[in-house]
Amino acid sequence: MVSALTRFALLIGLALIAAFITLEVWSAQWAIPLGIFIISAPPIYSYINLARLKKYILSDSLEKMSLPSGYWEEVLFRLQRLIKNQKQKLLTIERQHNTFIEAFQASPNGLVMLDENDQIEWCNSIAEQFFGLIYKRDVMQRINFLIRRPEFIQYFTKRNFEEPLLMERMGPSSSISVMLQAFPFGQKRHLILVQNVTDLQKADAMRRDFVANVSHEMRTPITVLMGFLETVQSLDLPKDQQDQYFEMMMAQAIRMKSLVEDLLTLANLESNSLPAITKPVHIKTLMALLKNDVEALSMGRHSFTFEALSQQDLLGDEREVLSAFSNLVSNAIRYTPDAGLIDVKWSFNAEDGQGEFSVTDTGPGIAAEHLSRLTERFYRVDRSRSRDTGGTGLGLAIVKHIASRHQAQLIIESTPGRGSTFMLRFPKERLIPITHPA
Ligand code: ADP
Repeated sequence: MVSALTRFALLIGLALIAAFITLEVWSAQWAIPLGIFIISAPPIYSYINLARLKKYILSDSLEKMSLPSGYWEEVLFRLQRLIKNQKQKLLTIERQHNTFIEAFQASPNGLVMLDENDQIEWCNSIAEQFFGLIYKRDVMQRINFLIRRPEFIQYFTKRNFEEPLLMERMGPSSSISVMLQAFPFGQKRHLILVQNVTDLQKADAMRRDFVANVSHEMRTPITVLMGFLETVQSLDLPKDQQDQYFEMMMAQAIRMKSLVEDLLTLANLESNSLPAITKPVHIKTLMALLKNDVEALSMGRHSFTFEALSQQDLLGDEREVLSAFSNLVSNAIRYTPDAGLIDVKWSFNAEDGQGEFSVTDTGPGIAAEHLSRLTERFYRVDRSRSRDTGGTGLGLAIVKHIASRHQAQLIIESTPGRGSTFMLRFPKERLIPITHPA
């Protein structure tokens, strides 16, 4: 401020000196206009600067304006610094805002922000999908005018947001379930959180089905067992009839044992860590074990061929691989009528480098509509046939599980009336050249 006044005084002083020199040196006719010019110079200078200032303000580029000298320099310098700081602050706020928006957009859950009148202020793209909203179109629209499902309107009318609301069949696909809840915040505003719970709902339904199935499977042999026990207890039966009943009781007990064993196998598969990729499974040893087991199970009723055509061993868990292979072979034995033929083969496909274990039988075969469901727990094509042969309905579910733990594929080909082939294809990463001569 002081320097500006000093400059102003200097300017006036210079003007007076100039007027004096002019009066003295030049003729009086030039002195007046020159004096006027000198006196009016500062306001003209100010006016020019004001005009420039206006131009730069209007084009929002004040910081580009070159600094004039004198008093204007300080004013403008401060103004430019103020604007630069404000712009910097605005930029920081904008960046933070964008980061929040990006974070909310990245959320797997839908988010809708409502103002105090339940009008949509903002929503992310997941919420757009769930509710069929279009943000640009629906912004500042009341949410209950846009989502017309009765349960949603009721939820919003009651305004009891303590509990979430489950809505079925939303959006373009008719089979999704969403869970939503409104959370109050700020001044009577609400944030709606929407979550896709389709998979959770499915898992829950599967768990309920599984418990119901297990209970049903267990109840049947227990009921039969109790019936026999009551009969043996209450009636004075001859020895041979008693023995017959005990045999039947034993069969039911074995059935329960198999069921419990299969359930435990599944539980272990689900809880154990993945089998190591470094442990070799010697296929020829495994085939020899398998051969002994199946011959005992078949009791000479079928003909078998066992071939290990590949010079490759497997990397994985020996117990799991044996369990998968023997489930497939025991199915072939159980479903193939007497005198049927069963081929068990381990081969290598040089083209894709995959190893394949296959079991082919001449049994009843399976109709195409059942094939995709065979690996579901307790799914059977013929319930009574499965039970008669001691099936638990869990064998192929176990095989499928073991296959996926070894990155293998279970492939089923079958022709009703002619037989079936069950194949397990292992990727080349799971194979190593034979290390152990069997
Ligand atoms: P189960 O204990 O009932 O055999 P699985 O899970 O092993 O249960 O098999 C599921 C169903 O697939 C069986 O109930 C049966 O209907 C059918 N199945 C499995 N293997 C064969 C086969 N080799 N031939 C014909 N049907 C089969």
